[in-house]
Amino acid sequence: MTAAGDFETEFLVIGAGGCGLAAAIAAHDAGLSVAIVEKRDRPGGNSALSTGSIPGAGSKYQRAAGIADSPEHLIADLLAVAGPHDADGLTRLMAEQSAPLVEWLIDDLGARMELVTAYKHVGHSLPRLHAPRSRRGQDLVDDLLRFVAERDIPIAVSQEVQGLIVEDGAVLGAVIGGDRIRAAKTLLATNGFAGNRDMVARWCPEIAEAEYFGALGSTGEAIAWGESLGAGLGNMAAYQGYAAVAYPQGSLLSWTTIEKGGVLVGQDGRRFGNEDSGYSGYAPEVMRQGPFAYAIYDTRIHEIAAQEEEYAEMAEMGAVRWSDDPQTLGDPFDIPGYALAETLDAYNTAAGGTGADPFGRRKFELAPLRPPYAIVRVKPGLFHTQGGLAVDTHARVITADGTPIPNLFAGGGAAVGISGRTGAGGYASGNGLLTALGLGQIAGLRAAWEIRQGS
Ligand SMILES: Cc1cc2nc3c(=O)[nH]c(=O)nc-3n(C[C@H](O)[C@H](O)[C@H](O)COP(=O)(O)OP(=O)(O)OC[C@H]3O[C@@H](n4cnc5c(N)ncnc54)[C@H](O)[C@@H]3O)c2cc1C
Repeated sequence: MTAAGDFETEFLVIGAGGCGLAAAIAAHDAGLSVAIVEKRDRPGGNSALSTGSIPGAGSKYQRAAGIADSPEHLIADLLAVAGPHDADGLTRLMAEQSAPLVEWLIDDLGARMELVTAYKHVGHSLPRLHAPRSRRGQDLVDDLLRFVAERDIPIAVSQEVQGLIVEDGAVLGAVIGGDRIRAAKTLLATNGFAGNRDMVARWCPEIAEAEYFGALGSTGEAIAWGESLGAGLGNMAAYQGYAAVAYPQGSLLSWTTIEKGGVLVGQDGRRFGNEDSGYSGYAPEVMRQGPFAYAIYDTRIHEIAAQEEEYAEMAEMGAVRWSDDPQTLGDPFDIPGYALAETLDAYNTAAGGTGADPFGRRKFELAPLRPPYAIVRVKPGLFHTQGGLAVDTHARVITADGTPIPNLFAGGGAAVGISGRTGAGGYASGNGLLTALGLGQIAGLRAAWEIRQGS
């Protein structure tokens, strides 16, 4: 401690989600004194709510499973989904770091994760997501918290940072109430602004009316702090949506149900688009067509999805209704039976290869669907924003002309993302946690290097 209420550390981490926790561990192991502050009463943020899936292109786990992958392959996949955007250089950095990141988490630290081979998920042309066995981000966060505790890294909850300490343009820590935490290096790991309705309306108006399903701490203050120091912003209109949150249960309806051959229909029993655009890209379409949509699939698909804990729990809560007859399948939700029967007929014909799908869908997997059919009522949601502070390849916050703001780092949702420039269609599974833990690790290591260099 310095003066009353003041505290000093080498590396101050603001925000205890995936980015902040990974950064703290990396910086500590590189020799720094570290402190983490978190505004909510418990750590975890959106990272705890996620499915914990992180791509690792060319990981040893892929090799063991006989999957040939590489950073170049991941870059090609990510750019095909995202298109050109404001942080192309970060895509390469993240792709190259992805396999070392998952190997660091699993082998060096001991995280309980595995390669997911049952599905590839949106944006990936082969299995490369690594996730907790439970498919729950909370397990990943619990592992990271355990590693933080093993290292005696102090973590203070219910401590909301209100602003940065800035002297002569250099960041020297942060302010919490009347207290000042002085730090040689500071990391903004505060996530994006999806929990701030005004900011969503300003930057991502197409999804502003959707319900936000993420953690309450994502209110975007780091954007304002960075901007006041001249930081550049990038990809501010990009976000991750989710097309199918079970209603009223509030659980994610696993997109496996749709990928494996299910369809989404509206209140009128008709399809309204091409589900191949994925759980994020399809979200605005689901929102435009009405307050609810209905996912329809069959027993074979249900059994695959039921291997995921969240789906199994959602089913136990009564979210999945069944019928052998398409005419009565929609009865619990007042969906006209004749329309639903016509829809399934047309869809099964296209899936069976005897007709073109009117919406251009090309991936049918297990479809045509067979009775008994399952139906789940869903609504679309906003999960997190993908725009943020411009950073360089060392996770340093930079101005629009590329000049680093002294001592300031950002990662995860606080930093610019790699999911395209605008809308929900550029998001590939795992982009959120890859840039959170990936940039966090880079920031921690770079901060240690700079302090050793005396810069
Ligand atoms: C339901 C859901 C499922 C998802 N699934 C996946 C997935 O499988 N894979 C994937 O890659 N991404 C997924 N995402 C996105 C992913 O969760 C986020 O991109 C990622 O967690 C961001 O990590 P972060 O560390 O930047 O933010 P967070 O994990 O949200 O952590 C930020 C922390 O900072 C704190 N904070 C904010 N402001 C302040 C302040 N002023 N002072 C102190 N603390 C502050 C917050 O309270 C929070 O605890 C999902 C998101 C949701 C909502």
